[in-house]
Amino acid sequence: MALRTPPVRTCTGCGKKREKTGLVRIVCSPSGRLVPDLKGTFPSRGAYVCPEGSCVLNAMKGRLAAALKVDKKVLDTAGDLQRDIAAAYRQRALSLLGQARKSGRASSGTSLVEGELRRGAEMTWLGLLAKDVSPDIGEKIRKALTRASVPFRESFTRDDLGRALGKSPRSVVLVKDEGIARAIRESLEREKNVMNQGGSNR
Ligand SMILES: [Zn+2]
Repeated sequence: MALRTPPVRTCTGCGKKREKTGLVRIVCSPSGRLVPDLKGTFPSRGAYVCPEGSCVLNAMKGRLAAALKVDKKVLDTAGDLQRDIAAAYRQRALSLLGQARKSGRASSGTSLVEGELRRGAEMTWLGLLAKDVSPDIGEKIRKALTRASVPFRESFTRDDLGRALGKSPRSVVLVKDEGIARAIRESLEREKNVMNQGGSNR
């Protein structure tokens, strides 16, 4: 019996074949703009690229237009595809956070999170500490997360975290779902990697 192999696509930057889920799909919108399609649901022809700055920049030298069967001119008007991909991954991390809340797997607020960490936490969870948290609270939560062996990221502001949860600003959120925690970590990792090399945020 043949094993079902995951779908594989070729990166238009480095030319390597990789599993589709490890690549970003890029489409050309009807208005002639290159846009990342993280969900892979845009009906237009798609081309793939590794979520790495070097691959995106390489793909922009020509192969991306060829794979999309569009005029090379589209690459001149592509704006900053690196930044758009990074923003899309950041947005994905925030929607995952909303998803965690909807399924009752996100706790937020300093005292609630501290209490949960004291009662016992899983190493597969994820802490999201606001980067604009007050130094005292930040220090306290960092210690509590470290003591509980819960990995954490400081990527979002209190407003970002609150908005993603449909609440007022939050200093910390604890994601208590292994799958969602992993997907958020991956999104943030890709956001960072895609801005490597020549990203306009530098
Ligand atoms: Zn690549």
